[in-house]
Amino acid sequence: MALISNPKLRWIVWSGWKGLCPRCGKAPMFAGWLKLAKTCPACGLDYSYASTDDGPAFFALCITAFPLMFVVVWVQVRFDPPWWVHLITSVPILVLGCIASLRPFKGWLAASQYVNQAAEAGAADVSNDPNASAKADDQP
Ligand SMILES: [Zn+2]
Repeated sequence: MALISNPKLRWIVWSGWKGLCPRCGKAPMFAGWLKLAKTCPACGLDYSYASTDDGPAFFALCITAFPLMFVVVWVQVRFDPPWWVHLITSVPILVLGCIASLRPFKGWLAASQYVNQAAEAGAADVSNDPNASAKADDQP
């Protein structure tokens, strides 16, 4: 229950899973099914910071494909159905489950990046100064 009582995490989950702006929570952050808007129409937050990359696909596969795999194996071992049974049951569940969960996961990750002010660590320093990582290692 400690995670749910954390207001920061509660805000990330609420705004991200509903697809609302992580700063104001009033306007949608998506301009399409998975495409983020350029800015929030309510508060003007620039969404260029958001780089969720493959994160939503990873989490969508984890919650859909991983449990489904056990069901498919169980059905195959228990009932030994012909291959087309999996084609008309498992494949649609996999596809719909992944597509339906991509948007909430993308919203959650984009909101998490904003709230936690996530950025690539030291990317600017490394690109400008080849010895930046060596200097950073010298820091206590
Ligand atoms: Zn906003």
